[in-house]
Amino acid sequence: MNSKNFILFSDCIPVKGANRSVICDLQNNKYHFIPNGLYEILETYNGKTIQFIKKEFNNSYDEIIDEYFEFLYSHNLIFYDANPDLFPKISLDWNSPSLITNMIIDYDAIEHDFENIIKQLEILKCSCIQVRFFSKINLHRITEMVELLNELKSRIISIDFIIPYSESIGNEELEILIKKNPRIHSVIVFNAPYDKSYNAIWEKMGYLMFVKRNILDEKHCGIINEEYFYSNIKLFSESHHHNTCLNRKISIDKKGNIKNCPSMPQSFGNINDITLVEALNLTDFKKYWNITKDQIEVCKDCEFRYICTDCRAYLENPDNQNSKPLKCGYDPYTNQWEEWSTNSLKEKAISYYEMEDVF
Ligand code: SF4
Ligand code: SF4
Repeated sequence: MNSKNFILFSDCIPVKGANRSVICDLQNNKYHFIPNGLYEILETYNGKTIQFIKKEFNNSYDEIIDEYFEFLYSHNLIFYDANPDLFPKISLDWNSPSLITNMIIDYDAIEHDFENIIKQLEILKCSCIQVRFFSKINLHRITEMVELLNELKSRIISIDFIIPYSESIGNEELEILIKKNPRIHSVIVFNAPYDKSYNAIWEKMGYLMFVKRNILDEKHCGIINEEYFYSNIKLFSESHHHNTCLNRKISIDKKGNIKNCPSMPQSFGNINDITLVEALNLTDFKKYWNITKDQIEVCKDCEFRYICTDCRAYLENPDNQNSKPLKCGYDPYTNQWEEWSTNSLKEKAISYYEMEDVF
């Protein structure tokens, strides 16, 4: 292979962190750790021969370079071709025809007019919603919602439900509901007596998950961990230009207030008084949309910054809009994950958000 030109697959993109790098495989939703030395080689020499690279390093690192390229080839991250110019880099432009791409609706004691909200979402061309119930519901409640989407021939193609555990809603009924309704992307049942995931059963269809964790209100949102990383072109390209949680998001909190997300303090009016379009057009509604991870302290040095979601509602330093998400326990300078909620450096922020009893 020494005399052939190596080429990174265009959907395998290296991202450099403070201490190590990753190659994001956007086709296969995977990422691979690599040393920063290899990142520099990939950035500088993509399209060159291995022979050429070895010579550039005065043949002092031949063995290491061979190891690097064996790794890249065996993980399907590179291929060899004599005409590298035929393989341009993938575009990381991002756009969407939707004024709003995703919505969160919270329900507790107060009812919101779901049909009216869905009709308003059509105007905004929104296609993904998450509905979170903090009080007990019966199965009929969510069945009705999905049937309404069908009746209205809604453009919503993905609906996630987060519901509290109830003995009256068994996993079998939920399985049937999910299998019958391809719009249901997930049902997460919290405060359950056990942790169990059923996603393997239906493969690419919606998934069902029972979790012991209790979710009492919106303060439970915003946790960052590796399980929530998505290495795909949509998130990767959007994260270069926009915020990975709040861009084109609109929400209705449990009291009916229209917000960027239910955890944000600022309300743009109540859904009973103004429309979603009116709220969207108010000054400040879009103020978080373009805060990228490259602008956020610590995250800007993190190798996961383009595959990680963000949280602007709970910050390590609540006075600094560009502060790292409070609920991330990762340190890109040591590559260690730690439990964020017991980190003494975060005590002040946890107290500011009155979260002492949340976890
Ligand atoms: S900004 Fe934070 S709290 Fe709000 S929806 Fe996103 S992750 Fe959740
Ligand atoms: S440091 Fe930032 S980019 Fe890295 S995992 Fe945490 S929140 Fe995500």
